[in-house]
Amino acid sequence: MKEVTFDHVRKRLFVGLISAGLIGSGLLLAAIWYFVANPSRSMLHQALLLALGIMLVGGVVVASFGVGGIILSILYARDISALKGPIRVAVNIFFPLALALGRFFHIDKDRIKHSYIEVNNFLVKSKALRLSPGQILLLAPHCLQKSDCPYKITVKIDNCHRCGGCAVNDLLELRDKYGINMGMATGGTLARKFVRDYRPRGIVAIACERDLTSGIQDSTPIPVLGVTNERPFGPCFNTQIKLPLVEKAICFLIKDKDKERLVS
Ligand code: SF4
Repeated sequence: MKEVTFDHVRKRLFVGLISAGLIGSGLLLAAIWYFVANPSRSMLHQALLLALGIMLVGGVVVASFGVGGIILSILYARDISALKGPIRVAVNIFFPLALALGRFFHIDKDRIKHSYIEVNNFLVKSKALRLSPGQILLLAPHCLQKSDCPYKITVKIDNCHRCGGCAVNDLLELRDKYGINMGMATGGTLARKFVRDYRPRGIVAIACERDLTSGIQDSTPIPVLGVTNERPFGPCFNTQIKLPLVEKAICFLIKDKDKERLVS
């Protein structure tokens, strides 16, 4: 069963949903204020509503700066470092809200996650990251390996015999070309172990929309460039990857002089 891809999905879907979430939170705040101001309520009732309102005000103010920061970063195509914290808060707080709103409007959740990955990648690319190859980790999912390949590569990726039967061979060539680290994970636990072991300052992660969104959030504050895999045979089975997208992501993270050395 061929899966739908979301290559056409743009950043504006996620930005639109978190902006709607922000407006919804503002309306909720106004409702709380109305109840607090209503003299017919008991003092305890009003105090609880006031406490909830104060927490919401704090969240909404920080999130407003965050959403504003995302929009400005996209408009001016540059990192707004002063708003880094609020942007992170806005994305993390409003991500579940964006999914809930998407469910309400019958928007496929993988479309929203794809848009979130686009926004994340844009924010990562807007930073002036110039890492050395040893600071970069390429994380790939185990489902890229050909299903009938007899070699166990999750423990040691160099067990791959490089027959060219699947994308693992191409990814290993990229690893060797750029001198970066690489791990092949069967799930979040192994992925986290690779991050602990290699202590990267930048990650290029290949996965489906679901695993990429959780991986990006788990890895915060390490910047992650996400590349979604292709699933022509359905999820988690003989998946494929557009190699130029992976190479482009590696080059975004790598120092210019290292790039020059590799080209010359
Ligand atoms: S390239 Fe060949 S040996 Fe390596 S994982 Fe793929 S099928 Fe197995």
